[in-house]
Amino acid sequence: MRTEVSELPGQSGSAGAGNSAPELNWAGNYRYTAASIRRPRTLEEVQEVVAGASKIRALGSRHSFNAIADSPGSLVSLEDLDPGIRIDAAAGTVTVSGGTRYGTLAETLEDNGFALPNLASLPHISVAGAVATATHGSGDANGNLATSVAALEIVAADGTVHHLSRGGSPDFDGAVVGLGALGVVTKVTLDIEPTFTVRQDVFEALPWETVLGNFDAATSSAYSVSLFTDWSGDAVAQAWLKSRVSGPAAGGAAGTARADSAFARGAFAGATFFGGTRAAAARHPLPGVSAENCTEQLGVPGPWSERLAHFRMAFTPSSGQELQSEFFVRREHAVAAIGELRALSDRITPLLLVSEIRTVAADKLWLSTAYGQDSVGFHFTWKQRQDQVEKVLPVMEEALAPFHARPHWGKLFHAGADAVAVLYPRFADFKDLAERMDPEHKFRNEFLARKVFGD
Ligand SMILES: Cc1cc2nc3c(=O)[nH]c(=O)nc-3n(C[C@H](O)[C@H](O)[C@H](O)COP(=O)(O)OP(=O)(O)OC[C@H]3O[C@@H](n4cnc5c(N)ncnc54)[C@H](O)[C@@H]3O)c2cc1C
Repeated sequence: MRTEVSELPGQSGSAGAGNSAPELNWAGNYRYTAASIRRPRTLEEVQEVVAGASKIRALGSRHSFNAIADSPGSLVSLEDLDPGIRIDAAAGTVTVSGGTRYGTLAETLEDNGFALPNLASLPHISVAGAVATATHGSGDANGNLATSVAALEIVAADGTVHHLSRGGSPDFDGAVVGLGALGVVTKVTLDIEPTFTVRQDVFEALPWETVLGNFDAATSSAYSVSLFTDWSGDAVAQAWLKSRVSGPAAGGAAGTARADSAFARGAFAGATFFGGTRAAAARHPLPGVSAENCTEQLGVPGPWSERLAHFRMAFTPSSGQELQSEFFVRREHAVAAIGELRALSDRITPLLLVSEIRTVAADKLWLSTAYGQDSVGFHFTWKQRQDQVEKVLPVMEEALAPFHARPHWGKLFHAGADAVAVLYPRFADFKDLAERMDPEHKFRNEFLARKVFGD
């Protein structure tokens, strides 16, 4: 298993806005076609680089599996900008440079007694890149990571700097999950809360019948619940429960106060969880893989920053040799959608490393995959057999079509712009916002044309 290597090749070129050739995304399944990557070191240099380019897009930590980040011109990485992590305890916010990785931010916050409400499965991703695609963790009351955004600083196509804040701008709800189509997000302000501790418990072999008969009870059993399956057989392979055990009452990214943790009330102190048995040792979601790369389990309490992600910052997340897809349905459709996916296990399972089922609270962000609906996400970690995966995706999307499933923006999906646009009630408003921020389509690429705007 390879270790996490995220640096692009060494930079060269002019001081301050270095220039190097981009290459592969993290999974190695997509080679960027952009001619160069610019590496500004200050906001002014970002403005200069953007204003001077005819086609340009922001590149985050390259963890997306499709062409969303690419540009027919150049890319701009914010990795050389100082993270500039600034905590405002009175406001309950932290402001960081967009290229900062969640792992770096989480460590600083924890050192200062603060926390983010949630993390994705991995801490390696950049804040602006994750937010731009509505990246999420799990938890019935937890919104995706974009819902923690309180303000954004964006460099628009003409190089001007725009500040948008929650409640302060009518465009804010459209700009947060911006798919990189509105400009380069140079700073992100996120809601924070006092630090808390989390324990992580893993249960194995939960009979599907029990889980499906108690789906809401199962997913609401802890602050964050993940179910891992390969869709075959009669049982869910693993349930990962992340429970808040100290600190203030769980808030949820959307700010809904919620007395969490049935665990804290002792509900899962026993050996079983919805028919599953407590894992005797730490587990990796992938069968037979060492749990060394995973955050600590076995109920040992630890800081949120070392429990909410599944994978540890210093190690390869997930498999390292994989592809990913994910589809989100309205919560009330979850059980029926699971039925459809299980019925396709003959097609899905042979290509799969593992699937993860998570919950995400509804939000108001126009292109969020949880816009307007409490959602359940069905995630697929595929073997690196892209041709075969691309053949099964349309079959899965057809099966999930009755549930109006929304695909994850940063993962592999088949649907084109026509099918995608109708899934988002505020899509026309987003299109209008993108035209206003980028009238000459400097930030457009082939992916956005084909999968989003249809032009
Ligand atoms: C192993 C692994 C595990 C994952 N786990 C999860 C998970 O648990 N939950 C989940 O939801 N997703 C998950 N993902 C997907 C991942 O979180 C998303 O694809 C995310 O967008 C990646 O962020 P990034 O910084 O790598 O962005 P990139 O892939 O580099 O870019 C993604 C998009 O963000 C835009 N962007 C990047 N930086 C900026 C900026 N500064 N300003 C404006 N736009 C910008 C790009 O233009 C592009 O459109 C996982 C991916 C991997 C590889």
